Amino acid sequence: MPELPDLEVLRRRLREGLLEGKVLDIEVLSDRALKTRYFKPAVLKKGILREVSRKGKNLILEFHSGFKLLFQPLLKGWVSFEVPGEAAPLLRLSFEGGRELYFIEYENKGMAGLYIVRKLEGLSFMKKLGVDPLSEEFTIDYLAGAVGERKDRLKAFLVDQKIIAGVGNAYADEILWEARLSPFRICADLDESEVEELFRAVRSVLDSAISVLEEVSGEGLPPFEYREHLKVHRREGQPCPRCGAIIKAVYEGERGTFFCPECQR
Ligand SMILES: [Zn+2]
Repeated sequence: MPELPDLEVLRRRLREGLLEGKVLDIEVLSDRALKTRYFKPAVLKKGILREVSRKGKNLILEFHSGFKLLFQPLLKGWVSFEVPGEAAPLLRLSFEGGRELYFIEYENKGMAGLYIVRKLEGLSFMKKLGVDPLSEEFTIDYLAGAVGERKDRLKAFLVDQKIIAGVGNAYADEILWEARLSPFRICADLDESEVEELFRAVRSVLDSAISVLEEVSGEGLPPFEYREHLKVHRREGQPCPRCGAIIKAVYEGERGTFFCPECQR
């Protein structure tokens, strides 16, 4: 699942490449991917891209006309200048100058969604989103307040989009490894210095992932779900890069939590 760093680098690249670009044509290539029916896709035609923004794991193309195209990739959605063979195209935007932007989905899951709206607040999942960890609202006080007396385990806490928007399964594992905290710890049991450690880890893990993805992307858009730089996520059986102990995994259905049993307490 693309997470905040993937979407943030995608946002930056689209902004660099397409800002103030004019949409000449729009084609819906998968009817089920278009989740809103109120506005016809043609309302985006002749639209000029005013801004590319992101909230949590949602990408938003904002047009001068006031219309917005929101993309929610969920598990397998992505954006590309061409359609890779193994992906299904969902929607195509043709920009003046010949550039074509495709919203795509791998494995044809039918989950990724496109929304054409004027106001983002009209979308219930956007209203429920918590603080974006790259925003100024994400402070140590916010995190301490959110951790509070919560009885959730740290892993469940970090992936809860109503609290911190943008962290998913992979980066939650990485953040907890960085903070040396066990994913099974209960929020309420954290002391002040551990909350500080967690705060620092959220920022540093996301920032350094963004740098890696910027580099990997070269001049183009970031690849789908680049994960080579991760230290514990999906590294079961390999040595912990910090202490050398063997990384363990605990599965709930298909979703795994990966951690070092030695240096994460
Ligand atoms: Zn370790």
